[in-house]
Amino acid sequence: MIPPGSTIGILGGGQLGRMLAIAAASMGYRVHSYAPDDEIPGGDVSAEVTRAAYDDVAALDRFAASVDVVTYEFENIDVAAVERVAAIVPVRPGAAALRVSQDRVAEKEFVTALGGRPAPFRAVDSLADLAVALAELGAPTLLKTRRFGYDGKGQARIDTAADAERAWASIGERPAVLEGLVRFDAEFSVLLARGVDGATRVYATPRNEHANGVLSCSVVPAGAPVDAQAPAAIALARKVADALDYVGLLTLEFFATPDGPVFNEMAPRVHNSGHWTIEGARVSQFENHIRAVCGLPLGDPSLTAPAVRLDNLLGDAVHDWQSILADPHAHLHLYGKGQVKPGRKMGHVTRL
Ligand code: AMP
Repeated sequence: MIPPGSTIGILGGGQLGRMLAIAAASMGYRVHSYAPDDEIPGGDVSAEVTRAAYDDVAALDRFAASVDVVTYEFENIDVAAVERVAAIVPVRPGAAALRVSQDRVAEKEFVTALGGRPAPFRAVDSLADLAVALAELGAPTLLKTRRFGYDGKGQARIDTAADAERAWASIGERPAVLEGLVRFDAEFSVLLARGVDGATRVYATPRNEHANGVLSCSVVPAGAPVDAQAPAAIALARKVADALDYVGLLTLEFFATPDGPVFNEMAPRVHNSGHWTIEGARVSQFENHIRAVCGLPLGDPSLTAPAVRLDNLLGDAVHDWQSILADPHAHLHLYGKGQVKPGRKMGHVTRL
């Protein structure tokens, strides 16, 4: 158990780190954020910040020595960096969860072994592999980089064999996975917190909408058909969490299809589709992640309102903040990012 007053290290300094740090501070913890970026939204609300590369071993060692426990808010951190830190101080969730979720093929195989069903897929390491995979799966398909993809980045749609070369070039000719395009009725995610003792808490399952591969809104209750498919998806998430001896908030994303839930991907961290839990749940995903990481009892994830909606403020939408504040049901969150770019996550608004 890591008691209040201790220091929590957070690898990654984006808005997730920012909201984790706020939750940690409200429970009496200090936060030390570590990130390489020029702008570190999590650093604004941390007691200490290290701006250094994830492969700067001297900086990693100093960081590890200055904290009592470490977590991460970004899954594209080199596993070697996390293992180095884990030799000095506990890292929760551990390197195993990171390793699986960094590689789209490993992730799908892992989940399949536990009884989950991903979209049909083939690993692709060359243009020749891609031609074979396309012939086997049949168009339409999506080509995704195996590693380091997020928010729809590193993805290309392939509708005919003639598209293959362009798609392969567009993802940088890197190891990839080709997936059959899933015809879904809705998308949803499972947000599950698991404590050091193996206890779990599950949030209401949000229905998620994406625009250009980026989450635009999440709604609970999700309604049909998600509500009918959530129990099977939650059962799978529990198996994933148990198999990894996971500690913290775990997210699994699914497509609701006429044949039941199809697993899309997992994230070993708090998730954008759970930002509504700050006001919409009795204990938020951020607080439950901090509680889990510190070995404290988990809190009640139940809803505080009959219906909750989260909208991301992407790019220029951040300029609407004044009209949002005029709505008495709206809770505005801005991430303190200076540079507005199209599609960039600048903030979000939750309505109860
Ligand atoms: P991802 O980064 O893999 O979660 O992809 C981002 C978004 O692209 C998803 O939330 C879906 O809206 C869409 N997408 C990804 N993979 C597929 C697929 N195999 N079939 C249909 N839509 C997909």
